[in-house]
This record gives sequence, structure tokens and C-alpha cells, in this order.
Amino acid sequence: MITMPSFRVLQPKTEAEAIEMLAAHDDVRILAGSTDIVINLRNKLLSPKYALDVTKIASMHGIDYSETEGLCIGAATTLSEIAENPTIRTRYEALAKAAGLVAGPNIRNMATLGGNICLDTRCQWYNQSYFWRKSCNFCLKKDGDICHVAPGGSYCWAAYSGDTAPALLALGASIKIVSALGERVVDLKDFFVLDGIKKYNLAPNEIVTEIHIPAKSANQRGFYKKLRIRDSVDYPLAGAAVVGRLDKQGRCTNAQVAITAVNPAPLIVKGVEELMVDREPSEELFEKVADMARKTAKPMKTSLSTMPYRRHMIGVFVKQGLSEIFAN
Ligand SMILES: Cc1cc2nc3c(=O)[nH]c(=O)nc-3n(C[C@H](O)[C@H](O)[C@H](O)COP(=O)(O)OP(=O)(O)OC[C@H]3O[C@@H](n4cnc5c(N)ncnc54)[C@H](O)[C@@H]3O)c2cc1C
Ligand code: SF4
Repeated sequence: MITMPSFRVLQPKTEAEAIEMLAAHDDVRILAGSTDIVINLRNKLLSPKYALDVTKIASMHGIDYSETEGLCIGAATTLSEIAENPTIRTRYEALAKAAGLVAGPNIRNMATLGGNICLDTRCQWYNQSYFWRKSCNFCLKKDGDICHVAPGGSYCWAAYSGDTAPALLALGASIKIVSALGERVVDLKDFFVLDGIKKYNLAPNEIVTEIHIPAKSANQRGFYKKLRIRDSVDYPLAGAAVVGRLDKQGRCTNAQVAITAVNPAPLIVKGVEELMVDREPSEELFEKVADMARKTAKPMKTSLSTMPYRRHMIGVFVKQGLSEIFAN
């Protein structure tokens, strides 16, 4: 039988209380919507002594927008609130679309933006019960010493499988992180690490409290699409976000593409802005960008889908996104 391990839940009401609790206890895991972490707890992938629930911290909820400051979202704001928010839908379209495609509606009502960003990486050898993993002698990421995806290596290829990160990357987002040492603001592109085990630059006593998207990223066209096994409720196997805008003469003034689920971290496709800005969008340019995205994607056999198909679909989504966004 798959059971929950036992741990004590800490429920701070303020960020200051949360920081104090994190500093005073060893071996604490953060719980937000709990839609992902509870499965990992039940599969004995984690066994903390304490779980710190951030959902009662009022300052970590809410969506604020101003034309000068841009968009600020509390890390404990749910994905449903984000997907349905009229300001985000009109001004930061790619984020609303990505949030609205996470899992299904029940999960989106619980799941938070902070939890979606800090999602664990996924692999068919890792996201299994203890019993299943034991029968294969475990793997490098947890309890074992071999990678079944790339045997002989000492690297974990588990795929980062969050949907909102590529939209946030394309929109130039940053995150606020707090701990007993104070607060730091990190560009999201510097937060993720291309390593399925380390995943991101976040110490165990740190909490992501806020996500900020600059005002200059507002009012662009935005696109997000993903490949998944069950269309009604599933993690991405490949996903692409595209944002951009045209001037009155029909020339591109900004273009950004970011991809997910095909590497151990979500990645911005480098060189897209340099290639497209000041040029008139064309099929030829779209094909070049799609090719750059396909080359950035390095899917491994971490899921049931095949690697060439996942890479191919990245190119399909990028071309579709560019054609929609830059259609006159
Ligand atoms: C059936 C099913 C389908 C799913 N489909 C998708 C999908 O399509 N796309 C997708 O992206 N995800 C999917 N998920 C995963 C998950 O539901 C979402 O990623 C969700 O957004 C996670 O948010 P949460 O608040 O529930 O995080 P939690 O489960 O509470 O936490 C996730 C991780 O983030 C850490 N964390 C949470 N908040 C913070 C914080 N503020 N600071 C620091 N660390 C934090 C936790 O410690 C944990 O490691 C699916 C899950 C299920 C069960
Ligand atoms: S990529 Fe390798 S080490 Fe990482 S979870 Fe999969 S099997 Fe384990």
C-alpha cells in the first residue's frame, strides 16, 4: 500500500514567521498547493521531518498591475486565478495561456505559481512508487547509483516539466526569494540549472514569495502550446512559449521564444531577438527560429513519448506561435 510518510506541518501566517520557522527547524519542505509534492511524498521520493505550508501567508497571494511597475504575482496565487485574470489575459497573454493549460481545472484551483516554477524534474524511472523503483535497483536521482536513461553517465536528464516557466522566461520575469539572510531578486533565466537533480538555485531555507514581470513586456501578443499524452490533464512532453510585437510598419520590435519539458531546465532560445527585430516576419524567418528551437531541445528517453517526436513538436509549436503572433 502507498502511504504518506509522517511529518509535522508548520503553518506560518506571515513571511517573517515562515522565515523564523525555516531557520529554527531542520529538514523542512515547502508545501504550496501540494498537487505535486504529495505524490512525491507518497512515492517516498522525499521524507522530510517538517512541511511548511505557505498558503496561509496573505502577502504571498494576489495579482497587482501598474503601467509603470508591471505585474507582481504572489507565489501562492493559484493558477486558476492567473489564467482567469483579465489583466493577465490581455496584457501578458502567454502566461494566462500557459497557466490555463496546466493539468485540469481541479488541480489548477489548488496549484500555485510558486509551486509550478519550483516543480521537481520528471522521469519515467523516478516518478514511480518505492516498490517499483526498488525492483529496478533505483536510480541516480534517488536511492541508486545508475542512470537508466544514460547508463554510464553521472548526470540526471530528468525533464523540467512546468508549463508557466517558458512563458515567464519569454516575458523576462524575475522572482523574489526570502530567507533569514534577507531577500534577493533573481532573473528567472538564472534560477534554473541544467541538472535534473539540482534543478534550480534555491537553498533549503529559502522561499519564493513573488514573481515580477516588467512593464515593458506588457501588451505583446503571446502564445503557449504543449504536447501531452492526455489532453485533459497532463504534464507537458514538449512545450513552447512565444511572445512578440510588430510596429506600425509591420516590422518586428520584439520576439522571444522559450521551451519546456525537453531539457532538465526550461530554456530561452538564444538569438531569436537578434534574428527577428527590425525585420518583416516571413515564413523563412519562422523556419530559422523553429530550427534554433529544435536544436535547443535535447529530450532524452525520460517519458513514454519518443525523443524525435518531442523535438519535432517543439519546431511545430514555435512556427505556429510565430505565425499567429506576427499575422498581419
Ligand atoms: C495529474 C496531474 C497532472 C499535472 N499536470 C501538470 C501540467 O500539465 N503542467 C504542470 O506544469 N504541472 C502539472 N502537474 C504538477 C502540479 O500540479 C503543478 O505543477 C502545480 O503548479 C504545482 O504547484 P503546487 O502549488 O501544487 O506545488 P506543490 O506540490 O505544493 O510544490 C511543488 C514543489 O515546489 C516547492 N514549492 C512550492 N511553493 C514554493 C515556494 N513558494 N517557494 C519555494 N519552493 C516552493 C515545493 O517544496 C515542491 O518541491 C500535474 C500534477 C498532477 C497530479
Ligand atoms: S534521468 Fe537517469 S538519474 Fe535522472 S531520474 Fe531518470 S533514470 Fe534517474
